[in-house]
Amino acid sequence: MPPILDTPIEYLKGISTEKANILKREKNIHTYRDLLEYYPYRYVDRSKFTLIAELTDSNTFIQLKGRFIKLEEIKQVRGKRLVGLFQDERGSIIEVVWFNAIKWVKDFIKPNEIYVLFDKPHLFNGKYNLTHPEIETFSSYQNSGKQGYQALYNTSEKMKLKGLDSRGVLRLVQQLLQIIKKEDIIEILPRYLLEKYRLPEKYISTIHIHQPPSLPDQLSALRRMKFEELFVLQLQLVRLRLLRTKENGILLPEVGELFNIFYRHHLPFSLTNAQKRVLKEIRKDTMSGHQMNRLLQGDVGSGKTIVALLTMLMGIGNGYQSALMAPTEILAQQHFDSIKSLVQPINLRVELLSGTIKGKKRTAILQALENGEIDILIGTHALIEPSVKFKNVGIIVIDEQHRFGVQQRAQLKNKAMIPPHILVMTATPIPRSLAMVFYGDLDYSVINELPPGRKPIKTIHKTDAHRLSVYGFMSEEISKGRQVYVVYPLIEESEKSDLASLMEGYDSLCKIFPRPQYQISIVHGKMKSEFKDIEMQQFIHHKSHIMVATTVIEVGVNIPNASVMVIENAERFGLSQLHQLRGRVGRGAEQSFCILMTGQKLSNESKVRIQTMCDTNDGFKISEVDLDLRGPGNIEGTQQSGDIQLKLSNLAIDKAILEEARNAAILLLENDPSLNLAQHAGLKYYFNHQAHLKGEWSQVL
Ligand code: ADP
Ligand code: MG
Repeated sequence: MPPILDTPIEYLKGISTEKANILKREKNIHTYRDLLEYYPYRYVDRSKFTLIAELTDSNTFIQLKGRFIKLEEIKQVRGKRLVGLFQDERGSIIEVVWFNAIKWVKDFIKPNEIYVLFDKPHLFNGKYNLTHPEIETFSSYQNSGKQGYQALYNTSEKMKLKGLDSRGVLRLVQQLLQIIKKEDIIEILPRYLLEKYRLPEKYISTIHIHQPPSLPDQLSALRRMKFEELFVLQLQLVRLRLLRTKENGILLPEVGELFNIFYRHHLPFSLTNAQKRVLKEIRKDTMSGHQMNRLLQGDVGSGKTIVALLTMLMGIGNGYQSALMAPTEILAQQHFDSIKSLVQPINLRVELLSGTIKGKKRTAILQALENGEIDILIGTHALIEPSVKFKNVGIIVIDEQHRFGVQQRAQLKNKAMIPPHILVMTATPIPRSLAMVFYGDLDYSVINELPPGRKPIKTIHKTDAHRLSVYGFMSEEISKGRQVYVVYPLIEESEKSDLASLMEGYDSLCKIFPRPQYQISIVHGKMKSEFKDIEMQQFIHHKSHIMVATTVIEVGVNIPNASVMVIENAERFGLSQLHQLRGRVGRGAEQSFCILMTGQKLSNESKVRIQTMCDTNDGFKISEVDLDLRGPGNIEGTQQSGDIQLKLSNLAIDKAILEEARNAAILLLENDPSLNLAQHAGLKYYFNHQAHLKGEWSQVL
């Protein structure tokens, strides 16, 4: 017999085919299990009564206690309505309206009986009223055991039309809970974990998450379910990591002569301790015989590029090709230029493959790549297209990369018979909790030290009223030989007006900083890439003093002589973007400045963002504030990663549970990687039978 939880939802008592279809369409609820896993989004305290005089416009459910002092049927254009006047103990009165089930209500309501009404009040003609509240006598309320917390469910308009409002859903869930027995709900967490983390059993939690007898019960049921959700995910991620340490990878027996020559004679500076440590971690991976999958986090300017190059040299010295992928053409070009000049003394063939390289030239590069004549290929995402074939790629570096999920990384594996080593570098520090989820299958290195001689960037907030003094400051810095960025926001919805304000800003800067004394470059997304390039090169080679730009310069661009970053409409940027932009300066030995220009009035959230930027240069601190402000769904680096969906957990709030779940998963897999122990039978069953039904990654076990 199939498990009862797989029963199609239409078999549930009280559910019509119509309702079943709506549940399927609107909420993807097909089976009993789906319904049980349709978790409440909130709870109301049903032990409390609100006074009518204290109703507010808060759009939440409330509970009233009192009696009906009048009940009257009123004819209307179509049909009729029933209007009752309901009075609470303080004597305040509220109107209660029914449009259907009028006869039933009339029979049900008795004068002088005390009732409990439960509903969301609506404001109508300046007064609150209730329509079709849940109604019962006070004595039945007292006997119902309902005085605790009641679950509220998200529903859609279509569901509500068919009686599937929050209460309607709750009724179905209650119906279902009555026929579910303890043995129907398989406990997937081993007993020792329940004990260690003091989690209630799944069966109890399932009941309590929908029908909590008390607040503590509700909280522990929710914690248990979140733990399970995160634990199952972590098991899969940690498992992927473990599998890799068993899988074949390219063995680089030595760092190689090339690496050594470069390291000894051509390094332009000595490495920081953090850079050396990371290189050792990478070296350990490349001589393990297993594939490297490493995330390298390092704040902007911490010197990831040289680490990438040295890693690639390890591959090349052992006879393999290397590739470096950048998120934009400008960055690919910049990497190409700097790497080409760095390796010039050791005579390597470096090529750039970008979207603008077409025709014969492209064919020639592809051919040379396949023949193994190219040592380092640099480009954008286009490098992972199937038409790009390497002879034998050993190292792939992905720079400044947040848009690369587990799936895309898997794609890279197919570029060679033996999967190449992968180094993912990101300058957007990700809060630890997000990293554990979105990069949980990767090993992890951090460059937590800036190259010596850097002065921390000074960040200053100025309003438009102080614009002139900002211009004055810019001209002072320019006269000292520095260069200045002026960045404007550009977001798609307001593209036209943003572009207009960028051009306006450019025009007024041109008046204040006139030619020929000053040169101003401009770069924005609507320009043809060859013009963009020309402007960019002008600034890079110090032929211009000011670069006016949109966020196209956000990532990676490295111009050490630029020491002032002015960000216009700074309130419109997110924290991580502000941090990225600020990271464009402070790359040389000079004191650098970031000036955040805003209007006079700021929202509270903008104030926090601006203040945070002025207070700290620490990208990890900033990322935590960002996570708290915006929630996990909007954090850069994760929103495009459609791989992982959490039903219950919130990575901004549930950091502690996540940490526990990850530790538990690591311990468990170290002891029992194939889940063969009896105490892991529930988990094994889950992965073999259910995970795939739910479209989770599954099948890794
Ligand atoms: P990011 O980590 O943001 O990619 P880069 O690799 O572009 O940083 O390095 C930023 C700047 O610091 C570059 O000009 C680079 O040459 C320089 N740099 C990197 N490492 C060191 C070091 N150990 N000592 C001095 N300068 C360094
Ligand atoms: Mg970089």
